[in-house]
Amino acid sequence: MTNRITYRCPNCGGQDCGWDAYAVWDDAEQMMALGGAYDEMWCSDCGELKSLDLMPLAEQPVLTRPMLLQVLDLSTGHVTKEVMDRLYDHQGNWPFSVKIDPYGCFLSVPDVDTDPADLPPSLAQCFQYARSIGAVYIHFDRDARRDETLPFYSW
Ligand SMILES: [Zn+2]
Repeated sequence: MTNRITYRCPNCGGQDCGWDAYAVWDDAEQMMALGGAYDEMWCSDCGELKSLDLMPLAEQPVLTRPMLLQVLDLSTGHVTKEVMDRLYDHQGNWPFSVKIDPYGCFLSVPDVDTDPADLPPSLAQCFQYARSIGAVYIHFDRDARRDETLPFYSW
C-alpha cells in the first residue's frame, strides 16, 4: 500500500478542517466538482487557522468494497490419509487453524517461515501451492476434483 497522508489542525489536532474552495459543474459527471482551492484554511473544532499539519495517515482506511479472500479448494486426496486423520483428530500442535466441516476441513495457510519442521511433506506441498497462487485458506474437500499440479494419494 502506498503511504497515505492526512491533514490535521495544528492548534487542536482536529481532523474537521480544510481549505476554502469553489465548486464548478461537471457536465460529464453530472455533479459538482472541485473548481479550485484558496490559501485560506479553517478548523471547525477550534476556529480559523493559518496552516494545516501534513502527517502520515495511521488509521486503517475504511473499506469501500467487500474484502474477499482466496480459498484453494483441494481434494482430500492431495494429502495422505495419515495427515487427514491428524487434521481430523486435531493432532499436532500446528501454527495454523483447522476447522472440520462435513466435506473435509478448512486450514489457514501459514506464512512460509512458520512452517513447522515436522510438517508432513504432502501438506507442505499443498501450503506451498496455495501460497504460490495467493490463497490464504485451503479447503480440503472430499468432492473436489483432482489437481494435476499436486501429487495424489489414493486412500
Ligand atoms: Zn483546530
